[in-house]
Parts: sequence; C-alpha cells; structure tokens
Amino acid sequence: MSGFTVAIVGRPNVGKSTFFNRMLEQRKAIVDNVSGVTRDRQYGVAEWTGKSFNLIDTGGFVPESEDVFEREIKKQVLIALEEANALIFVVDASTGITTLDEAMADVLRRTTKPVFLAVNKVDNADRLLEAAEFYSLGFENIFFLSSMTGSGTGELLDAVTALIDEDHTEPENADLPKFAIIGQPNVGKSSLLNALIGQERTIVSDIAGTTRDTIHTRYNLFKKDFILIDTAGIRRKDRVNEDLEFYSVIRAIKAMDEADVCLLMIDAAKGITAQDLSIFSLAVKKGKGIVILVNKWDLIEKDTNSAKEYEKQLKERLAPFTDLPIIFISVIDKTRIFRAVETGLEVYENRQRKVPTSQLNEVMLKAVEAYHPPVVRGYPLKIKYITQLPTVVPSFAFFCNFPDDVKQPYKNYLENQLRANFNFKGVPVRLFFRKK
Ligand code: GDP
Ligand code: GDP
Repeated sequence: MSGFTVAIVGRPNVGKSTFFNRMLEQRKAIVDNVSGVTRDRQYGVAEWTGKSFNLIDTGGFVPESEDVFEREIKKQVLIALEEANALIFVVDASTGITTLDEAMADVLRRTTKPVFLAVNKVDNADRLLEAAEFYSLGFENIFFLSSMTGSGTGELLDAVTALIDEDHTEPENADLPKFAIIGQPNVGKSSLLNALIGQERTIVSDIAGTTRDTIHTRYNLFKKDFILIDTAGIRRKDRVNEDLEFYSVIRAIKAMDEADVCLLMIDAAKGITAQDLSIFSLAVKKGKGIVILVNKWDLIEKDTNSAKEYEKQLKERLAPFTDLPIIFISVIDKTRIFRAVETGLEVYENRQRKVPTSQLNEVMLKAVEAYHPPVVRGYPLKIKYITQLPTVVPSFAFFCNFPDDVKQPYKNYLENQLRANFNFKGVPVRLFFRKK
C-alpha cells in the first residue's frame, strides 16, 4: 500500500461525496463526524488496477454567512494542497462555472501538485457540450464524468494511479520494525516519545519519512532495533488554530501507511472516541498490526476489576477485531511504557509469522472435521487444503469445492481457529476461498 494521498475539493453540492463513494465502490468509507461548520469528512482507500491510494473527501461546508463560507472553502483547499500528493477539483456541469469555482481555481492553479479537474454531472451528450466551458478554467487535466452513473470515472482513475510509484514507501531500513504512535491531540503521544528517549538515550538517528510530515527515529531498546514514526511533534506554528483535528487525522493516516504496527493511544478518562474508532478500522483495513494503549491510567480510580472491566467494554466497541493487546499505561508515572514497546515488537513478530503448510493443514483440517461447514444446495461443502500466501498481511487461501458459498459465520469460525492455534494477536488476517 502506498502512502499516496488524493484530496477531493470543490464547493458544496457539486457531487464530491457521490464521487467519493463511487471511487470506493462498495468499500465502506470511514466517516469522520466533525461538528460545527463542516459536514462529514470521509477517508477511504481506493483501489484501481492493483494500485491503492488514500482518498479524502474534504467535505462540504454549511455556510453561516458569505464571509465564513469563503474563508472555510479557502481553508479546505489550503489544507488539501499541503497534505495531499494530488487533488481532484470537482465542478458541476449542470450549473456551469460559478464565482466560487473561479476563486478555488485561482488557488489551485498556483500549486505545483497535479490537479485533476473533474467536471461532474455530465450524465448525457448534451451536458458534455455545455461542459466545454470548463476548459476556460485553464487546467490541463480535465475529465468529464458522471458520478451518478460512473461514466468517465475510469479515465480519471487511470490518470491518478499513473502517478503512483509502487516504490513510494522508502526502502531505507526496510527490515526494521516500524511503529506509529497515533491518537487524538493531547492523548500523550509526545510525552510517550519523550519518556522513551529520556529513559534510554539510545536514539541512533533521525531519518526523514517518506513524507515531510513524519519523522522516523531509530531506537535501540531491549537489544531490539526499531523505528518510531512520529507525527506528534510536527505542528506548524502558524496553523495551530486551524483545524488541528483534520491535520492530526491526515498525519495519522500517513504514519499508519509507513508503519508495520500502530500503537493506538486513547485517553483512559475520555474513553475511545468516534474518531479513534475510525482510525482503528482504517488500520484493520490496511492490515496493520495494532496495540491499544490506554494512557493516563493514573487518573482512573481503580478497584481490583477496573482494568478487566475497562478492557471488556473497550472490546465491545472494537468488535469484531478483538484479538489484540490492550495495555494500560501512564506515561506520567512511567507505568508499563516499556511493556508497550515490547508488545509492539511481539505484534510485529506475529505479523511476520509464516505457518508451515503441513502444520496449517494438520490443525485446520482437524478444525474443519470438528465442525463441518453447512451443506450447499444439498452438497457437502468440502475444504481440502489450506495454504498461507506470501503476503505482508497474513493471508490464508482455503481451497474448496464451492468457494462462493462459504458464509461469514463459518469464516469467523475458521479465523477463530487460526487465532486459537497460531499467535496472530494484534494482527488482522485475511481469508480467501478458492476453487479446488
Ligand atoms: P457534495 O456536497 O459536493 O459532496 O455533493 P453531493 O455528493 O452531496 O451531491 C450533491 C447532489 O448532486 C446530490 O443530489 C447528488 O445526487 C447529485 N449528483 C452527484 N453526482 C451527480 C451526477 O453525476 N449527476 C447528477 N445528475 N447528479 C449528481
Ligand atoms: P500529544 O498531543 O498526544 O502529543 O499529547 P502530549 O504528550 O502533549 O500530552 C498532553 C497532556 O497530557 C500533557 O499535559 C501531558 O502532561 C498529559 N499526559 C500525558 N501522559 C499522561 C499520563 O499518563 N497521565 C496524565 N495524568 N497526564 C498525561
């Protein structure tokens, strides 16, 4: 997965959200509910001819007044310009060019980043003729499409994915485990980094990340070499008041792309937020190793069952992926912070795990024998052979007679059996069913 990020910008009602959903097809979008003047921003991973990229719909703004409106739109474009590798500027063929389109075009023409002008709502040939006026905005890459029907979107995707260099992720130190510490502002990310640095002055070097928004720091703790990807320390002074949330989410996604394991930090007192859950499901979708760190545990009044009860409730929110470590830490009291890193290393090992085929078949065929898959149209569904695929994210192919008829509950059973027999704690796994 590359860290390539594409932002969709445009004034409200041009069809950004429709376009976004079309790009993701049936894939579920991650919706970030931001209150106030903005409506939902959406994040997702789009895939096209084997290449994938992050797609951000920067959202629509609910105008309070003309002034606020212009300012918000400008902010949206500036953030997108700063954070994305390429932009898709959506306009509406049914309305023609508006003054807001022109204002946005002015800002966008000045960037050196690739801008794709997507003239949307070109549902028929008449619209195509009318849409010709958009050439006057002066963008070289212009595409006429209908997000509603999907026509024309393939050409745009071809052009966007042509920019993606598959080797986008840096080869430097490729063999070292990479951790990203992610979480809401003020959860304690910088404090954790400082605590780790303070205790053991073992930083080997700072290495620039693949994007200028991440810093890779090489550590040597417990005789283990690893890299921490930090985004916490990077805050542009002139922008601290501007949409910190949005920055932090985009940064988290970038750090996540570069990491093997995400240390997702949540605030013990606040509990897990909707945005934490969005980030969590994105990490699962991207197949990253995950450790949950419940920080500021010192603030919680505890009795003997507190951690257990807390963990149980947390897992209910994280379901269905709950086979993962949850560690209660206090950076301030330096409680269990090294445990956190050690656990990250364990999850890294688990993600690297390759189960020998013979062992896999011995265990899993026994599990199939113990609990047979349901009968399909009167025929027994037979799983004959299992193999682990040579992929980064642990993936298993089950060869069977009716691969399309294996139902979710049975897939869950098989995944649980895999997890019960081989240690994949903290690691999303993928199951594929293939015709034998
Ligand atoms: P956003 O505010 O830019 O995110 O716009 P939305 O995606 O919410 O779309 C605004 C309206 O335009 C909705 O009523 C959509 O159904 C409609 N729309 C979006 N794409 C198309 C299209 O390709 N053709 C037509 N005719 N309508 C569209
Ligand atoms: P970041 O924005 O995620 O990098 O968070 P910071 O590291 O800047 O921490 C935000 C605030 O939380 C600071 O005032 C820290 O002192 C405080 N903090 C961090 N860890 C803990 C902890 O374990 N317990 C308590 N009580 N406060 C903490």
